[in-house]
Amino acid sequence: MSAAVNLTTDNRFARKLAEYALPLRHTRTEVLQVNVGKLCNLTCIHCHVNAGPKRKEVMTRETIDRVIDWLAKTDIPKVDLTGGAPEMIPDFKYLVERLRALTRPRHIIDRCNLTILLEPGYEDYAFFLAQRKIEIIASMPCYSPENVNAQRGEGVFEASIKALQLLNSLGYGINPALPLHLVYNPNGAFLPAPQAELEADYKRELKQHFDIVFNDLYTITNLPIARFASWLKHNNQLADYMALLQKAFNPATVEGLMCRNTISVGWRGEVFDCDFNQMLKMQWRSEGRGLYLWEIDPSTIEDRVIQTGDHCFGCTAGTGSSCGGALV
Ligand code: SF4
Ligand code: SF4
Repeated sequence: MSAAVNLTTDNRFARKLAEYALPLRHTRTEVLQVNVGKLCNLTCIHCHVNAGPKRKEVMTRETIDRVIDWLAKTDIPKVDLTGGAPEMIPDFKYLVERLRALTRPRHIIDRCNLTILLEPGYEDYAFFLAQRKIEIIASMPCYSPENVNAQRGEGVFEASIKALQLLNSLGYGINPALPLHLVYNPNGAFLPAPQAELEADYKRELKQHFDIVFNDLYTITNLPIARFASWLKHNNQLADYMALLQKAFNPATVEGLMCRNTISVGWRGEVFDCDFNQMLKMQWRSEGRGLYLWEIDPSTIEDRVIQTGDHCFGCTAGTGSSCGGALV
């Protein structure tokens, strides 16, 4: 049993890590994932953010400035913008331009739901992103309309296809400087199929039917939190899904868990170990209060213990899951 595992917690995941003597601590920070808010044009059933069109939580310009000022003092190479639909916050373009103006260049990723690129008022965003060489990681839970529309809403598949064609026309997925990756997540309470097989299916089907190309497919397991947990409860599947995740625990995934090399920031600047912990309000704390990014000394992150909970079994089931897809 490793001393690095937090044994004060009674969560089953921590016990599992202890059983395998697998410590879970931060390593060098490679990614700053910024969740800019909960505003989104969609309301998908699997959403772990409970995002939607009526949400008011968005990162203000003042908070953006504080995040960028902190980042400028670090050598974190990658910034991953997520939400909601990150493009919908009023200062999205300002945020991207400030990131690009940093003296030390950073790789910028936009996690895009595709449909936003066709909404009124956002028609120039695809071009904006392409011009600035922003990597796009786009949700596309299936290559067939039935599954996508069931999970994300009527008409979402058709809009996603149009948006992918638009991105291809700008060079995304074709020009190596414009990576376009797709994200698959299961349309229910089951684990993703093998990533390489699904990627081959996606590539074949999207090319054949819609002349669409993309780089990589990332399979992501649905974590039993927020809207997906409510959906599971409503369908009486929460206990079975938790049992499935626990049974599929794969110790080989622990080494690659994204919480090791990522820190996650909320729309108010709060700091977390990952976006899922963010949704569970597991904010970093010190002296009885929650911490904000600008209060963190970057040199103290490495070796910090990661807070876990039963939801973490979603990241270690089968081939594992992260914002970059399967882990093993
Ligand atoms: S899953 Fe993504 S696109 Fe769907 S509601 Fe949540 S944030 Fe929006
Ligand atoms: S939910 Fe996943 S990424 Fe987040 S702390 Fe748990 S294992 Fe790490």
